Formats: sequence, structure tokens, C-alpha cells
Amino acid sequence: MSPWSRPLEVDRLAEGEAEVEFAGAIAELPGLRELRPGAAGSVRGRVRFSREHGLAVGELSVKGGAMLECQRCLQPMELPIDVSARLALMASEGESARVPEELEPVLTPGGRTTIGALVAEELLLTLPIVPLHEGDAGCERAASSATPSRASETHRPFAGLAELLKR
Ligand SMILES: [Zn+2]
Repeated sequence: MSPWSRPLEVDRLAEGEAEVEFAGAIAELPGLRELRPGAAGSVRGRVRFSREHGLAVGELSVKGGAMLECQRCLQPMELPIDVSARLALMASEGESARVPEELEPVLTPGGRTTIGALVAEELLLTLPIVPLHEGDAGCERAASSATPSRASETHRPFAGLAELLKR
């Protein structure tokens, strides 16, 4: 079973002021693959549950590194992840009026959710839709740090082709 599909019973965890730790691959996060295709890397972190103003609250912290593909030079791009958020875990939309401004409202229908759903929602806010290295200089750096073995692999078939054309 993926670490992300671990079910969370929000009320029980909030009552017990439980803390849940997690670690897993970004590419396996439910719903993220469709919206951020090609995102790789891994994250770890924890959710600390509590109850505030009659609301179930999850204090989420996520750390790790994402690997994305720069949409300008198509080279890999590393994005460090270090986010924390205080989530109001609402069992229904009706609770949204009670959520104070400092909490980020998240719908957990019937008080049920998964670690993966909470982390995916937070990473969608963090991972850019169009990842780009910083400026042209960033792309040039990425190109020059590309592994030489890969360069020679892509070179060889063309060398073979040139030989064939000479015949
Ligand atoms: Zn780039």
C-alpha cells in the first residue's frame, strides 16, 4: 500500500492530538501526476492534529526536494520543498464560515481523508505549473552540468548515421 493512501479519521486524531509522520514519492501522490506531470523527488514530514474553536486542525509540515523539467531548456530542475501550513479540516462545506483567517480550509468529507490528499493539496500550491530555471544563466548551468555519459550516448547514433550516409 502506498504511504499516501493511509486513511485518516480526522475527529479521532484531533481528539487524541495525534501526530502522524509520513514519507513518500511525489510522483505517487494522488491527483498530482495529472496536474504536475513529470514531477519527481520525495518528501517527508508530519501532521499534528488538534482541535481549535471547535474545528479539527492539522499542522502540516513537508520537507524534501522535487525534480521538475524546465520548460525552456528541458533539463532537470531541482526545487527544494520546505512548507508548513495550518489546515482547518472541515467535514462539510458548512463549516467554512467558522474557519478563522489564519487557517487554510480543506474539505475532508465525512471527516475522512488521507495523508496523500493533504500533501498533494499543499504541493499543488508550491510546485509551479510551468517550471523554469532562473533566467538564461540557470538553463546554461543546467545544460553544462548534464552528465557526459548521456551526451556521448546521444552522440553515438548520429556518428553511426554519418558512417552509413558515406556509403
Ligand atoms: Zn532551464
